[in-house]
Amino acid sequence: MKTDRLEKYARLIVEVGVNVQKGQTVVINSPVECKDFARFLSDAAYKRGAGRVTLRWNDEIVMKQFYTYANDEALEEVPDYIVSECQYFIDKKAATISVSAPTPGLLKDIEPRKIQLYTKATSERLDFYREFLMGNGAQWSIASYPTEAWAEKVFSDGDAFDRLFDAILAASRVLPDNDPVAEWREHMEELAKRNEILNDYNFAYLRFENSLGTDLTVGLAEGHIWAGGGEVAKNGVFFAPNIPTEETFTMPHRNRVNGKVVATKPLNYNGKLIEDFYLIFKDGKVVDFDAGKEKETLKNLLEVDEGSSYIGEVALIPYDSPISNTGILFYNTLFDENASCHLALGCAYPMNLKDSDKMSEEEMEAKGYNKSLVHVDFMFGSADMKITGIKDDGREVLIFENGNFVF
Ligand code: ZN
Ligand code: ZN
Repeated sequence: MKTDRLEKYARLIVEVGVNVQKGQTVVINSPVECKDFARFLSDAAYKRGAGRVTLRWNDEIVMKQFYTYANDEALEEVPDYIVSECQYFIDKKAATISVSAPTPGLLKDIEPRKIQLYTKATSERLDFYREFLMGNGAQWSIASYPTEAWAEKVFSDGDAFDRLFDAILAASRVLPDNDPVAEWREHMEELAKRNEILNDYNFAYLRFENSLGTDLTVGLAEGHIWAGGGEVAKNGVFFAPNIPTEETFTMPHRNRVNGKVVATKPLNYNGKLIEDFYLIFKDGKVVDFDAGKEKETLKNLLEVDEGSSYIGEVALIPYDSPISNTGILFYNTLFDENASCHLALGCAYPMNLKDSDKMSEEEMEAKGYNKSLVHVDFMFGSADMKITGIKDDGREVLIFENGNFVF
């Protein structure tokens, strides 16, 4: 039974997630705890025609030891063999699958300075590889598989592992009696259709209203593009960067956000849970806020830099969707950000702006792009959410009624 589902789930990630091509090199980044899933992924990739599958194991416990005991010199060293390995994957135009299953809060007692030292050194030296992946140099996809440690944070009672696995499968549309590959192709077409409709409208503003007190106007960047679902990599192959994904998202205009937004889910930031909070915006900037819990943490987030008190993403997700319907807080962005309409405090995605690859940062900023070191999603969707699109000429179009798309 479990084997059946694992096989089906792995096939979905290989066929729809990265869409492995004949003879292609495949890289699987996986926590050691997820070895069962990694083996199924590898098997599915070979059966799909992969030339060679390479496993890159990671172990967050050993990583925590590294952060705890290593000196600064070791933290800052990026070995040449890792650089060569990444270059090899670029040369091979490898498809990359990453299994995301971090234990929430595991690193909360580690000195932030140490994490920063390591992250900065690594991201600088491997920037060329990040660019290859994020620039869609070849297909990549992120999916999840439970670990005992993660599952116990989500479910406090027995059978935590199985319950989290069930929830992941349900959210990913892998059901006992369906063909998830066919279902996903249909789902991605639906997302593409929504993107197209919203792109055609080219709204100047969106207005969000619900009975919890959200009354927010979000201006959209000039030349914004709605995206979500599948993308085409530079090698011409269509793929799904996230499984699951439910969002249709775009770039807000940095300085054109006004009103109040009330969050509908706790926000997990730096291992702390901010609850029952709202934000008030004026001309894009958060000018007032409050939280039932962890107000200080919210304040820290808003003060990371200038851009962290402005937003960089607005995403529409129907209230009636598989992830939202599980009603579970996963403490993992892959799921939580796909459960509800969200905004992100901080940096915007250049891909959400027309011709951004030909623009300087200043030119993007003139269109409404927001820059920050952080990008933190928080959820504010609700069962009674109403969203209205407003055109340049003042014409209004209903987008959401009672929490769901009207088209
Ligand atoms: Zn998003
Ligand atoms: Zn986001």
